[in-house]
Amino acid sequence: MKSVPFLDLGRLHQSIREPLDAAYHRVLDSGRFIMGPELEAFESEFAQYCEVKHCIGVGNGLEALHLLLRAYDIGPGDEVIVPSNTFIATWLAVTECGATPVPVDPSIDTYNIDPAQIGNAITSRTRAIIPVHLYGQPADMDPISALAAKHGLIVIEDAAQAQGARYKGRRAGSLGHAAATSFYPGKNLGALGDGGAVLTNDDAIAEKVTQLRNYGSKIKYRHDLVGYNSRLDEMQAAFLRAKLVVLDEWNARRREVATQYSKMLSDADIDVPLVPEYAEPVWHLYVIRSKHRDTLKAHLEQQGISTVIHYPIPPHRQACYQDCIGDHLPIAEMLAEEVLSLPMSPALNAEEVELVARAIVMSLTRNGSTH
Ligand SMILES: *Cc1c(COP(=O)(O)O)cnc(C)c1O
Repeated sequence: MKSVPFLDLGRLHQSIREPLDAAYHRVLDSGRFIMGPELEAFESEFAQYCEVKHCIGVGNGLEALHLLLRAYDIGPGDEVIVPSNTFIATWLAVTECGATPVPVDPSIDTYNIDPAQIGNAITSRTRAIIPVHLYGQPADMDPISALAAKHGLIVIEDAAQAQGARYKGRRAGSLGHAAATSFYPGKNLGALGDGGAVLTNDDAIAEKVTQLRNYGSKIKYRHDLVGYNSRLDEMQAAFLRAKLVVLDEWNARRREVATQYSKMLSDADIDVPLVPEYAEPVWHLYVIRSKHRDTLKAHLEQQGISTVIHYPIPPHRQACYQDCIGDHLPIAEMLAEEVLSLPMSPALNAEEVELVARAIVMSLTRNGSTH
């Protein structure tokens, strides 16, 4: 039986083994491991790629969000609007700076934060909105930015899953006041370890984040802010430079995989992802929805096809956020029961995608499911 992994990074990296080896040797031979020329070069290359003025490499995606909130002086007593349907790091960054995450349910069509519901969540304490471009599909930013402008709020994009995506022709990461992204190995642009970055056109915010990531210091041994140690190291920056070269090619391959899935599953009794006309997604994940999700997942597993649930428990149902349990977030809760992420990687071939799609159609037929 031929198995299909959810994401095989080992196989994916084979095709760029030489530039990765070269990156490793370059850093090893340089003797510089923190805050050196690789980081500087990567920051400038990735800022250009994202069509923003500044990129500041940091330790990971959660810290990118957290340092940004700190840079905007968001803290205790403040509220920050977050999607109810996201990876928990979006919420944790808000909690980490002492502010309160205020969840808003997604649109059932896109699974991204529903701009029409944000207005109800705004109070006199609201300081910022963090839209997440979930699964690699940009959130509907124009109405979000309009609301933010009306109420004097900061918009911080969580672009961890959307490196290279576009909204109305503009890059994810360039659409708000600032953005955070993650180079966790499984992301579209992944390091070979942890990493993250802040993106912004705002000179003052860029300078503040640059200080915060390095003990709050601009000049060595002078500390103006109570900072952190959250830096993107030279080795990871060098690997990321090698991987940035192939990002567009890999995103294009993800798009082909998604197109093939959508075509083969168009008649199946499931919901396939809907792409709004404003969006050019990069398919970090290909997420389907079914009332028979658990049976379907089990059938696929039996056939050697690995799938993952993003995410099985919404943040407001997590033990660490049990105070929020009163929140009425029906769409996030429904999605947690119904979503299923299919194998997705630039390394998947057409035969494997076909195998997965056929197995889904078979399982649904066997199940005699109705929607
Ligand atoms: C991965 C991810 C993060 C966190 O990034 P880390 O580098 O793992 O800390 C934040 N938000 C979203 C939406 C993510 O997918």
